[in-house]
Amino acid sequence: MSAPGTLFVVATPIGNRADWSDRARSTLADVELIAAEDTRHTGQLLALCGISTPLIALHEHNEAARAEELVARLAGGARMALVSDAGTPLISDPGFRLVAAAAAAGVAVVAIPGACAAVAALSVAGLPTDRFAFEGFLPSRGAARRTRLAALAGESRTLVFYEAPHRVGDTLADVAAAFGAGRRAVLARELTKLHETTYRGTLAELAALAASDPDVARGESVLVVAGAPEPGPDAPRDALQLDRTLRALLGALPLSRAVDLAAELCGERRNRVYDRALALQRAPPAEDT
Ligand code: SAM
Repeated sequence: MSAPGTLFVVATPIGNRADWSDRARSTLADVELIAAEDTRHTGQLLALCGISTPLIALHEHNEAARAEELVARLAGGARMALVSDAGTPLISDPGFRLVAAAAAAGVAVVAIPGACAAVAALSVAGLPTDRFAFEGFLPSRGAARRTRLAALAGESRTLVFYEAPHRVGDTLADVAAAFGAGRRAVLARELTKLHETTYRGTLAELAALAASDPDVARGESVLVVAGAPEPGPDAPRDALQLDRTLRALLGALPLSRAVDLAAELCGERRNRVYDRALALQRAPPAEDT
């Protein structure tokens, strides 16, 4: 039996065609087959570099079935590459199933790193990058979108979102409504391309700009949003105040009404107040001063 082959996961440019390494190009020239999200698109990119390696389509609609076929070839000793239309495969792009199945079959999986819009946006945003959370695309609409944003409102890490051009304005408005108008954010548009622009401001300022300037929604963008502030030195006092308010209201009103009023009076998020109200109802009365 032959030794298992190798799957190279190769990043391609996100706009500027000079943004990929010699190693990426020589790997693509050297392998026997390239699995590509869109063979026509990748074929054009490879033609510019004089690379004529055969291509096979691997996209979200055929990945499950095709991964099996490709892993069988890799397990038999093939050297293959995986690319997506732009940037790093698997980052909001196909390839996860193939990489997981190849690794499970004992195939070597080797990264040939390069451009990634999320990392490029973080590198210019000027927001904290010591910890960040990549959120990819938000649900496109409705309750799922609101639920996701509500769950993220208290996240203290910097958040990174991908978005389609026609939804950038709505997304800025929705994120401002969920996280608060004053939260700082950066919209990095058309990174590495001719019309590259970095918009900086509060979520409300960026939402207003998107509503008044059609250029903001032209091309591709990454939204980077500052995390929620960590609880400051006033937090224990605020928590005490919230508990007092809740206890007083819970004694006189139904839970839901008490939570609504306490959230408004203390300027706290309803979810947090609701959790605290449940905890207080379960716990014996505390001695506070
Ligand atoms: N795999 C890619 C990567 O490594 O960044 C991401 C692919 S995802 C399908 C496409 C999204 O990435 C776009 O909707 C946009 O949010 C972001 N994006 C890709 N290229 C970009 C660019 N040049 N400037 C800004 N955002 C970009």
